[in-house]
Amino acid sequence: MIIFKKKKDLHNWLYGQKDKGKSIGFAPTMGALHEGHLYLLKSSKKENDITVTSIFVNPNQFNDPGDFKKYPVTIEKDILLLEQMDCDVLFLPAVNEIYPEGENKNEQYELGYLETILEGKFRPGHFQGVCQVMFRLLSIIQPHHLYMGQKDYQQCLVIKKLFQLTHFSCQLHICPTLREKEGLAMSSRNMRLSAEQKEKALAIYQNLLYLKKEFMQQPFSLLKEKAVTQLLNAGFTKVDYVEIMNANDLTPLNEWDKKTPLVALIAAFMDEIRLIDNMVLTSE
Ligand code: AMP
Repeated sequence: MIIFKKKKDLHNWLYGQKDKGKSIGFAPTMGALHEGHLYLLKSSKKENDITVTSIFVNPNQFNDPGDFKKYPVTIEKDILLLEQMDCDVLFLPAVNEIYPEGENKNEQYELGYLETILEGKFRPGHFQGVCQVMFRLLSIIQPHHLYMGQKDYQQCLVIKKLFQLTHFSCQLHICPTLREKEGLAMSSRNMRLSAEQKEKALAIYQNLLYLKKEFMQQPFSLLKEKAVTQLLNAGFTKVDYVEIMNANDLTPLNEWDKKTPLVALIAAFMDEIRLIDNMVLTSE
């Protein structure tokens, strides 16, 4: 695996590869890698000549400085995992390589409705930070294929919007959420959970299954209320949202019309650790 720290070196190297007709797949990460990240890279390896990943804990997408400070960093272990799975390229930039003009003087994107709901509502500025880093990474790497996880459902829609706004052309592949055996969605933040907190955190997955089982029988408002109560009873300290929405555009609904595809989304705090997960409720 080649490790690049400078965007110019990476860009030039990839330019040479594209010149030879090689296809480039890219999966960006913030490190503290787990099987979910590796799945994105395995998908890229199947479909591309060259697979690139990045590890960059993007300060601009953290609305809570405490969360940024405590974000797990396991770079040596990450490099070992990437080498074991034959990843071709790791981009490991410093903050000033991505934001040479400083972190605060960045472009703003017209994300509209998407920025007013769910993660956009509860983490002000988060998606601006995501778009700022993604546009920079995509401009450096210019991949043919981009791999992202359904785990961050709203983020995938934001990236589609970013493609429209910037006329960026690249195929987005949304990979399924990988879970621990009992159902907890894999996440770098899980490293911060104690065994007891991990056990309690299963309630997110269980409540997504509950919503999936019940959404045809009960009004959504009632179901959402019940799920919030169940999450709090299970040991979550605060629930930011439980929502059932149109899976295409995340508009709200209060009952199923038997045709709109639905997704249920939950964000909740286990003490100071915020977890998110989602599940598509309707079959394709
Ligand atoms: P992160 O390092 O958390 O920024 O995530 C990097 C990429 O991995 C994003 O596209 C995430 O959606 C994806 N990802 C995170 N967790 C999972 C998971 N459990 N299963 C599949 N993809 C995931």
